[in-house]
Amino acid sequence: MIEFEALKANSLDEALDVLVEKKDKVKMVSGGTDMLVQIHHESEDLKGMNFLLDISSIPGLGGIEDKGKYMKLGALCTHNEIIDSQLVNEKLQILQQAAQVIGSTQIRNRGTVGGNINNASPAADLVTALIALEASVVLQSKHEKRELSLSEFVTGPYCTDRNEDEIMTEVKVPYIQGEYFENYQKVKRRQAVAIARINLAVITKIKNNRFDDIRVVFGSATPTAMRFRDIEKKINGTELAEINYEKLAQKTGQEMIGFTGERWSTPYKKPVVGNLLKRALRNIVKEVQ
Ligand SMILES: Cc1cc2nc3c(=O)[nH]c(=O)nc-3n(C[C@H](O)[C@H](O)[C@H](O)COP(=O)(O)OP(=O)(O)OC[C@H]3O[C@@H](n4cnc5c(N)ncnc54)[C@H](O)[C@@H]3O)c2cc1C
Repeated sequence: MIEFEALKANSLDEALDVLVEKKDKVKMVSGGTDMLVQIHHESEDLKGMNFLLDISSIPGLGGIEDKGKYMKLGALCTHNEIIDSQLVNEKLQILQQAAQVIGSTQIRNRGTVGGNINNASPAADLVTALIALEASVVLQSKHEKRELSLSEFVTGPYCTDRNEDEIMTEVKVPYIQGEYFENYQKVKRRQAVAIARINLAVITKIKNNRFDDIRVVFGSATPTAMRFRDIEKKINGTELAEINYEKLAQKTGQEMIGFTGERWSTPYKKPVVGNLLKRALRNIVKEVQ
């Protein structure tokens, strides 16, 4: 059993002081939906943890705000807040599509965007959608505030670029301007309360009936969610009616293997990534028409 002292921060300053003072002996918890599972399983990552710092009540770290060119998601913003937000519904629907398929009502009520990103699971649903949206994250330490793109921040499976004295305070999501279409897909072992076997976010502009500025991001197909740039290049500029779904599906599988090599899961994942892309593109084409 892991033994630790529970601490609660009432302000950002207080939390940052604790991180400086306790260094690698302290871990943070917000909604707890990942952290409590790790504690229960006595995860190796928690070795040496003497303190658990609850950051869930820190004022100013929650909420969803329109900042003109981008949307600010407070790190403590929950999945259900994203689903219920009128602003997200109007401007960034793919975030709602992704949040809606996370866990269960209870998980969506507790789980936060900051927790989803910092846990850095390759299957994290919001991460896949946020990378497609070219989101960035803001990290605050006692003396410095820095911002970096989400794709730079997630450095590997369950690994991030966060320093031990930093707290993620917000996620900045640039608005997509003009005729963009968004589609989120998730394959799981069962219909409810299931982690993605593979997920996919597709965002594309449709200009003169052609795909333009398409972003194709798969989660759980590669060690971290990432853009499939070769496929994007192949789709950009293609007329909607001329898209060759079968060829694209095949190329998607090949691009994945280019990143991962042949693995035990390849016979399953190779056709599935292709089929998911076909499904997302067909949904978008249907919506355009
Ligand atoms: C039954 C079940 C089903 C689930 N289903 C899904 C699913 O379908 N899709 C999915 O993506 N996830 C799923 N999850 C995982 C989890 O619910 C999400 O990842 C959730 O968003 C985590 O948020 P949290 O606030 O609970 O994180 P916590 O457990 O509180 O924290 C997770 C990690 O992030 C760190 N952290 C949290 N906030 C910050 C911050 N502001 N700054 C720096 N570090 C921070 C913590 O220290 C910890 O390391 C599921 C979990 C369970 C238990």
